[in-house]
Amino acid sequence: MRIPIKDVTPAVERAHIAGWVHEERDLGGLTFLLVRDRTGILQVTIPKKKVTPEVLAAVKEATRESVIECEGVVKATEKAPGGRELVPETLRVISRAETPLPLDVSEKVPAELDTRLDNRYLDLRKPRINAIFQIRNACLRAISEYLWDQKFTQVQTPKIVAAATEGGTELFPLAYFDKEAFLNQSPQLYKQMLMSAGFDRVFEIGAIFRAEEHNTVRHLNEATSIDIEMSFADEEDAMKMLENVVASAYKYVAEHCGDALETLGITDFKVPTVPFPRITYKEAIEISTAGGEPLVFGDDLSTAAERVVGEKMGTMYFITEWPTSTRPFYTMPFADRPEVCRAFDMMHPRMELTSGAQRCHIHSLLVEQIKAKGLNPDAFEFYLNPFRYGMPPHAGWGLGAERLVMTMLDLQNIREAVLFPRDRHRVSP
Ligand code: ATP
Ligand code: MN
Repeated sequence: MRIPIKDVTPAVERAHIAGWVHEERDLGGLTFLLVRDRTGILQVTIPKKKVTPEVLAAVKEATRESVIECEGVVKATEKAPGGRELVPETLRVISRAETPLPLDVSEKVPAELDTRLDNRYLDLRKPRINAIFQIRNACLRAISEYLWDQKFTQVQTPKIVAAATEGGTELFPLAYFDKEAFLNQSPQLYKQMLMSAGFDRVFEIGAIFRAEEHNTVRHLNEATSIDIEMSFADEEDAMKMLENVVASAYKYVAEHCGDALETLGITDFKVPTVPFPRITYKEAIEISTAGGEPLVFGDDLSTAAERVVGEKMGTMYFITEWPTSTRPFYTMPFADRPEVCRAFDMMHPRMELTSGAQRCHIHSLLVEQIKAKGLNPDAFEFYLNPFRYGMPPHAGWGLGAERLVMTMLDLQNIREAVLFPRDRHRVSP
């Protein structure tokens, strides 16, 4: 029976393993094959004079990155990785890799990101790159479990939609029979409708599509959003839920992903302390202005401003009380000062991770706010009707999964946190 490479220890007598040829070294009388599977690397040592002609022929055929399987005796040796080696009695090439390889999986030859993404199936074989996706998986698992524990129902809302969530230009139009349709920018309108439908608490981890014109290191055209909406809740309830969700992801990774963190060379992984500090939008623009990035009330936070404020805060933090003009129509303004609203952003020192708010659940006010943004309420009838027949107050947020992973692992480009990124120039592979 085949066993994972990490289970091949000096204590094991015999082992049957399968994997990819990571490296090959020929020392005359001895050949070393380093064989890799998803759990680790094992040295297979072939003393040419002592093995069968079949094994020798297979070793000759086994180019780098070929898939092989072998079975033999395990011996303790200090010279090999993991302090053990396997001397094969049988060795078989299951799938031979052509030469030369389009990409060096052992990372001795560095490659540009574009070349890596063109050959992503090879790039993903690198233990370091695979580790990113083990951690991404752990984050999404921890977040789902946390939210299920908090009585959230996981939902899947449509990705083909008739109306823009935020209006605007960031929409991908779609050929949908004889109708006009788009790829959804956010599950926002649907998760709100589910509040009227009595779900109380929902979450969705799904694709969002944004026709962002510009190529940046923090934007994708197809991203994964972790979205929640909760009833009988205000923005402070939503912020508490968010900081606990983020802390639970970090905690799970700290507790379960030691190997992946080590593979990535991360030695100082810290779980953020809850609660995250909160500053108002006014305080944020003051910090930014004092730090040489002048902003006035009503401005969005520029990338440079985010950096200035992030440096000052030095940890994850919230920005609250945003100008109503800067936020989407579905945001609840403060009753006593409608120029500011119950919106927040959750920031990592490097960038925005989340936007959220208490939403407007009052039908007449919502219609007004849609009009104030220059949008036509008729286009939102499907969304507005639920507000006419019993809508609880509610709040929620959207957290970018790639940005969470990117900042957690200090990745320089958001594309590193997606298997097959979609950007301005890339729709393949
Ligand atoms: P930014 O201003 O940084 O472009 P945004 O304010 O347009 O982001 P929101 O509409 O608030 O984004 O979306 C909520 C979250 O979803 C963001 O905080 C971010 O983490 C993630 N997100 C949004 N757009 C993208 C994108 N194009 N690529 C990757 N993540 C995104
Ligand atoms: Mn935002």
